Amino acid sequence: MSLQEILEKRSGKKCELCSQTSNLSIFDVSGDNLPEHSILICSTCKEQIEGREKLNPNHWRCLNESIWNEADAVKIISYRLLHLLKNENWAGELMEMAYIEDDLKKIALDGLKEENSEQITHKDSNGAILKEGDTITLIKDLDVKGAGFTAKRGTVVKNIHLTDNPKYIEGKINGTQIVLVAEYTKKSS
Ligand SMILES: [Zn+2]
Repeated sequence: MSLQEILEKRSGKKCELCSQTSNLSIFDVSGDNLPEHSILICSTCKEQIEGREKLNPNHWRCLNESIWNEADAVKIISYRLLHLLKNENWAGELMEMAYIEDDLKKIALDGLKEENSEQITHKDSNGAILKEGDTITLIKDLDVKGAGFTAKRGTVVKNIHLTDNPKYIEGKINGTQIVLVAEYTKKSS
């Protein structure tokens, strides 16, 4: 039996999260392709899980049922989603009520860490991870348009600020807040 067939049999050809029956596909919750770590989900669920659409709390009311599913993979992804929605009262309550084994909880939360760090990691020219408030040195001359000066290579910038874009950081040079390309900087140790 193919993975698709195993999952169709288990789910009764329904989205294992919201029970929708159309546009079903496989989603691997832990990255190891095991049937016990894969689920069959609809495109609505998948787009939100993969971050292509914002999480819609109303849609995820279906977690009320899926968190009790017998399949480990369904529990893992349900718990992960509840964690992301924990600011909603019902989601917080459900997380406390739900029974989930520690090893499944770990897979659920590990998956989150990867996604988060991928989104927000700023790296310098050596691949060192930059943090809010770090001190960096410019490794290239930087023409600061508008401010009328060139920040020379070797200029030290203290107390950097991380932007939402992993490519860019911000820092003050000559009293002017400037956007810097992270890979043209070097973190000071
Ligand atoms: Zn669904």
